[in-house]
Amino acid sequence: MGRTIAIANQKGGVGKTTSSVNLSACLAYLGKKVLLIDIDPQGNATSGVGVNKGDVDKCIYEVLIDDVDVKDTIMETKVENLYVVPATISLAGAEIELVSTISREARLKNALAEVKEMYDYIIIDCPPSLGLLTLNSLTASDAIIIPVQCEYYALEGLSQLLSTIRLVQKHLNHDLMIDGVLLTMLDARTNLGVQVIEEVKKYFQDKVYKTIIPRNVRLSEAPSHGEPIIIYDPKSRGAEVYLELAKEVIHNG
Ligand code: ADP
Ligand code: MG
Repeated sequence: MGRTIAIANQKGGVGKTTSSVNLSACLAYLGKKVLLIDIDPQGNATSGVGVNKGDVDKCIYEVLIDDVDVKDTIMETKVENLYVVPATISLAGAEIELVSTISREARLKNALAEVKEMYDYIIIDCPPSLGLLTLNSLTASDAIIIPVQCEYYALEGLSQLLSTIRLVQKHLNHDLMIDGVLLTMLDARTNLGVQVIEEVKKYFQDKVYKTIIPRNVRLSEAPSHGEPIIIYDPKSRGAEVYLELAKEVIHNG
């Protein structure tokens, strides 16, 4: 049974792409068959797993807009067991083009129906907005992971995200659940980080993952080499924590 998980937060720079790439790669490292879907026009998850955007023929844009079979867009990555549906800048137009299409919020869900059972996990890297691309991702998913950066105003914007999740649950996808809130980029040297952890735990309680992602320079270097951390530096703290997270996600179901 494949499980589809969207990694979403409309704030940029909170660790969505870093977490999508590295959670996917660690799940694959643990023997799961994983499909990473890049639905952000920036295409950073695509390059993050070693796919050169110049080599992309058809991407998620054609799946959403032109009814191209998702199977015809799946590419191999540098990680065994990990596959990717890439995104290129063409996707930037999709947000507007989707508005006038039929069943515009369910296009990704429908497209994934035939590959869902071929993978243990499908992980979707969402763009930094609550537009139709994110709505498609939430409609297609069994669960959402919400990365929250350990900084001032960490909770800002989350009420808007939560009300979007409730609307999706009510109208588009009754089964959507929050798998967990992921605290990212913790700087252990500051008291601020500890305060944010407490604040987020008070708000989300047992929905917060035990694994907290620290700031780790190797995690920020890996994308420029087109390698997930488990390949770029498997002994780093970054690799350790994303492996821990992958185990928690597997444990959750
Ligand atoms: P988003 O996808 O939410 O916009 P990214 O995953 O692209 O966020 O992260 C934003 C920036 O922070 C990137 O430059 C990324 O390399 C860096 N980054 C993310 N997580 C970490 C981390 N744990 N330690 C150090 N740098 C990180
Ligand atoms: Mg991103």
